[in-house]
Amino acid sequence: MREPQKRRASLHQCRRTGPSRVPTYTEEGIVLRRADWSEYDRIITVLTRGRGKVALVARGVRRPQSRLASHLDLFTHVDLVLASGRGTMDVITGARARSRLEANFELERATTAAVCAEVLDALVDPGVADPGLFDLALLAFTDCGAAPDPVKGLLWFLIRFAVRSGYAPLVHECAACGVLLEADDGGFSGRLGGVVCPSCASSGHFLSLSLRSLKVLRVICRDEREVFGRVALPRQEQLQLLAAATDLLGYQGEHHFRSVPVLEGLLQ
Ligand SMILES: [Zn+2]
Repeated sequence: MREPQKRRASLHQCRRTGPSRVPTYTEEGIVLRRADWSEYDRIITVLTRGRGKVALVARGVRRPQSRLASHLDLFTHVDLVLASGRGTMDVITGARARSRLEANFELERATTAAVCAEVLDALVDPGVADPGLFDLALLAFTDCGAAPDPVKGLLWFLIRFAVRSGYAPLVHECAACGVLLEADDGGFSGRLGGVVCPSCASSGHFLSLSLRSLKVLRVICRDEREVFGRVALPRQEQLQLLAAATDLLGYQGEHHFRSVPVLEGLLQ
């Protein structure tokens, strides 16, 4: 365990490396994306607790001796010291990782985290603070990095994110014909916004959704995290729910998620 005093000292040390006359502020964030910029810099997209999703400049982080670089790895939960930039983006002058997602060393965990990051990057409006969403994202990245089954963590995130964003899927009536859903295997349509009954599913091009998947989908929609934790979710159901959730979010957000087929390939 690190001593709190030491951690404070390390952040302070980083802070002094920043521009001394520019006022700084602190933020808690999760690194979603990094893009190289100019010779030694990067633009880092971060979901922050207090300012929502923001793009920040990290100067010099591509130099081998950079002290910031290791604190700004993808999916890292980090405390940041920021200075208001002259341009549109603020500048990272200090960073201290709270926890690094060890995922980078394990392909399945890293890929589930990549799906979370892509969804947040694509579908969250920049600059809108939403602490509830930040907590949901933090839970997702923690699950992807450390939970026994990272895919379950990802599914919880995707469907809760859809519900929070106003895209809660229809799970009690058929999204195509409106009939009350019976206890049976059926289908799913992101375009129609939910589950379709067996009769509609057999007459159109819909994703498959077993009764077991439907029950799990309802548990997540009802926000029953404890129940969900006890559910055993075989690979087939994981793949069905992954397809359903990303079809729903992709259609509503008009986005095609590039990381999803990669994950599907790993799970098949
Ligand atoms: Zn129907």
